[in-house]
Amino acid sequence: MSEANGTEPILYETRGRVAIITLNRPERANAQDSALLYALDDAFQRFSQDDDLGVAILRGAGKHFSSGHDLSPEAMEDYEVPYERRSLWWATASDNWLSRESELYLGFSRRWRELPKPTIAMVHGACIAAGLMLAWSCDFIVASEDATFADPVIRMGAPGVELLAHPWEMGFRQAKEFLYLGTPIDAARAHELGMLNHVWPREELEPRTLELAAKIAERGRYALALTKMAINQSEDAAGFRVATDGAFALHQLAHMQNLHESETPNRGMTAAATREEMRADEEAGKTP
Ligand code: ZN
Repeated sequence: MSEANGTEPILYETRGRVAIITLNRPERANAQDSALLYALDDAFQRFSQDDDLGVAILRGAGKHFSSGHDLSPEAMEDYEVPYERRSLWWATASDNWLSRESELYLGFSRRWRELPKPTIAMVHGACIAAGLMLAWSCDFIVASEDATFADPVIRMGAPGVELLAHPWEMGFRQAKEFLYLGTPIDAARAHELGMLNHVWPREELEPRTLELAAKIAERGRYALALTKMAINQSEDAAGFRVATDGAFALHQLAHMQNLHESETPNRGMTAAATREEMRADEEAGKTP
């Protein structure tokens, strides 16, 4: 069954007991705008509520998994969240920036992390900034050998993306280096740091991920849900929830400071300028 539609931001299909959810803005390297994030939430809910499905795979169409939030002027103008989708924050926050990021960024990451069924992020190409938030929200991350991971948000004057899971994903010291430098690491390094479950050659990525998903989908649904909850609770008991709440507040502080200094929440830096700066660093040999 496939409901692929070339213009939809998210494609949804199933193979046996596995749902395949595809980020479908390849012309923008799967940059995340509001429409894509709401469609992704709908897809995850649909998967959760379908009794015939056991595991979901999240992947990106085209050359890359995801280039992060869509910071183009058009996407940034799409600031209003539809009334029926507004979080409770909307009524209380003095600034829409906080409302938007609470719901679409931090909120969705948490909601997807807590889906009652296993999920696997299948990453190829670049996974940048908020691309990491999508991958981290899944239970497993598998990647092809050509995958790269980066959070360059310090270049925009903020302490990483909205969900500061970096220390949990790669350890405290490595998280500092990853964030201070803002330069990419490759799949082998990410695997070494513990962020990835498996790294496979590009041509094997999809078949092996499907095989892994099908195997997990054979397990009892209720036992899987409880196992997932138990492990997530362990992470929360170790401080994940409290630490990421605190970091989110610091992230908002950075946006407001940037606004104060340069009249834009992101230090006046466009996504294109950030990419250019990263490319220049790479050429200058500043990438470790
Ligand atoms: Zn932000």
